[in-house]
Amino acid sequence: MSAKPYVGRFAPSPSGPLHLGSLVAALGSFLQARSQNGQWLVRIEDIDPPREQAGASSLILQQLEQFGLYWDGSVLYQSHHLARYQQYIDHWLHLQQAYHCQCTRKMIKASGGVYSGTCLDKGLLGDHYATRLHSHAAIYQFDDLCYGQVDIPAAIAEEDFIVKRRDGLYAYNLAVSLDDAEQGITEVVRGADLILTTGRQLAIFKLLGKAAPQYLHLPLVLDEHGNKLSKQNHAPSISSKQNQRLLLQALTYLGQTSEAGWLELSCEQILNKAIANWRLTEIPKNSMSN
Ligand code: GLU
Repeated sequence: MSAKPYVGRFAPSPSGPLHLGSLVAALGSFLQARSQNGQWLVRIEDIDPPREQAGASSLILQQLEQFGLYWDGSVLYQSHHLARYQQYIDHWLHLQQAYHCQCTRKMIKASGGVYSGTCLDKGLLGDHYATRLHSHAAIYQFDDLCYGQVDIPAAIAEEDFIVKRRDGLYAYNLAVSLDDAEQGITEVVRGADLILTTGRQLAIFKLLGKAAPQYLHLPLVLDEHGNKLSKQNHAPSISSKQNQRLLLQALTYLGQTSEAGWLELSCEQILNKAIANWRLTEIPKNSMSN
């Protein structure tokens, strides 16, 4: 039997333009896909409007193009698929695999910080409650292609986690897993800040009865204070003039070799060289300071 053709993706949330940290994730997932002649999809995870910045989606796509990071097919916008997410929730509620919950963050904090299934048997009905997935088969570990065996603390693995919030917004873990399944993603390559969410996503795949992708988490780029660079903490966005330099910098974060002379090349030429030289085993496991 031949192996499934590789399908990878980059799935930014439009909370701001690309910065060095998100460029590393985009580049790592692109190179990993292209070095295996795989497809590379882009999905905009725009399901949390309060955290979004106007115009960020199109800016991110423009930036990817400026870096020569061209994707396959059309971009999937999660905000166009809310009805599909709701269908799954309704189905799980119907089967009692999910339930409504009225506990606030404050209440959970007051009772020790871990949600312990308080509302499981309350039979709450109504749209103004959060929806939690009842954990039937907790996932305590998985094999990561960079980090090896990753252990997930029991408190995270066993918690009935939220798939839809009280304010009506769909949770990241729900949308990301349903779309990775829907788009036939065979390998997820993303930043290590999301490594512990993987167990919940694997739990959703199990519930769907679908084969889960493989996971590969990339080291984070930290600022001088040791904080993750993120759009929320206003990491400086990337100006297009320095694209070649930034691609080389991102390659260094990924542990890949490059040559100073590459600066004279176009982004596409740099990417072609990087695809040819891509070595998964060279990716460092430690986060690195910017
Ligand atoms: N949308 C998430 C972010 O921008 C990434 C999701 C993922 O790659 O699984 O942080």
